[in-house]
Amino acid sequence: MRAVIVGGGVVGLFTAYYLSREGASVTIIDPNPGERSRAAAGILEFTRFKINRINVVGYPTSYLKMLARGNARIRRFDLKWLAAYIRVYAREAPKEVWESVKEMGRFSWAEYRRLAEEKNDFDYAEEPLYELVEDVEAEAEELRRDPLQPKFEIAEFAGRRAIAYLEAAKLSTDLATARLISEARAEVVKASAEAVGDGYAVVGGKRIEGDVVVVAAGVGAADLLGLPVAPFKGYGFRLRAKAPRGMFIDLADTGVAVVPLSQWVKATGRFDLDSSRDDSPAARVLAGAEKLLGSAEVIDLAVGYRPCTPDGLPIVEKAGERLVVATGACRLGWTFGPALGRYAADLALGKRGETPFKSSRFYVVL
Ligand SMILES: Cc1cc2nc3c(=O)[nH]c(=O)nc-3n(C[C@H](O)[C@H](O)[C@H](O)COP(=O)(O)OP(=O)(O)OC[C@H]3O[C@@H](n4cnc5c(N)ncnc54)[C@H](O)[C@@H]3O)c2cc1C
Repeated sequence: MRAVIVGGGVVGLFTAYYLSREGASVTIIDPNPGERSRAAAGILEFTRFKINRINVVGYPTSYLKMLARGNARIRRFDLKWLAAYIRVYAREAPKEVWESVKEMGRFSWAEYRRLAEEKNDFDYAEEPLYELVEDVEAEAEELRRDPLQPKFEIAEFAGRRAIAYLEAAKLSTDLATARLISEARAEVVKASAEAVGDGYAVVGGKRIEGDVVVVAAGVGAADLLGLPVAPFKGYGFRLRAKAPRGMFIDLADTGVAVVPLSQWVKATGRFDLDSSRDDSPAARVLAGAEKLLGSAEVIDLAVGYRPCTPDGLPIVEKAGERLVVATGACRLGWTFGPALGRYAADLALGKRGETPFKSSRFYVVL
């Protein structure tokens, strides 16, 4: 079987990994594989969905607070996405969907452990995630409403009361990306696809054919397939700085997430609704990181997009006889990357027909 994967981010790379292991010959089309996914902090939250629940009551207020603090900005507004958002606002996904999300968390967790046992060349470690929030009790109350029922406790971190989320892990997205690129065993076409169809992708006006095409292009799925995925842009710095005691997210002030790794400290932030080339807001992330860590020397900066659907749940489905799409993991693309790659590979191989994550949930059926 020849599989063509459009998009070599974490989801496309895991898809390639599973397809190669099943004997498929894989081509990845991407102008710069791994670069966007590399921007992420690398926090793995296998049993908690809170951060992706952008359609719950109260979330728009949280986003307005982020805007007011200068931790986000809006430069692109997609009316189609907004219409879908209004449609699913305050709507709870059915129980079966949450069961599938739980299963995705279990699968991904086991896969990361397995990959780390094979060779831990990507700084995988299981440890608590600390969240610094304005109101610890309110946050704890919200976590109790998380359909995945995460384990947490109220703890002390950096002299403050914090939520310690206990079923978390971390990895270096920079190192994991390099490992996945080598393990995917794929031919890479360094270009953007202009269009996709049943069994083909168009690059530079020419068709690249496959027995199956998987669109794992993150926010690129909006242009390629018209899907409601918004570009929530963020910035990831690799820093040389004094490592903190553990990984944490400062939701109370800077909005910056900090992950200490073996060779550097990763600091990420912002939730900009933006697809422009202007990366000037990255300076605010760096300033936030310096406020939290003291002085820091920048190794490099990667810019990424969280592909967020209106309900924060992914879209994984067959979009044609020989066309599969897997996107929309929003803030949890690394957390659920293995499971989404496995889903997409199974759909491509014909091992699975249906998934609970269909795009039709966003549309009114006439
Ligand atoms: C600052 C930041 C911090 C984050 N922190 C975390 C975290 O701690 N934990 C976590 O689980 N998640 C985190 N995320 C979210 C995670 O990074 C995303 O969910 C994940 O990258 C989505 O993976 P993806 O493969 O679907 O999309 P992407 O990573 O965006 O990859 C899509 C790929 O498709 C390519 N592409 C797009 N259009 C085309 C086209 N037309 N033709 C060819 N190629 C195309 C792009 O070049 C890109 O390489 C973070 C994100 C950001 C931005």
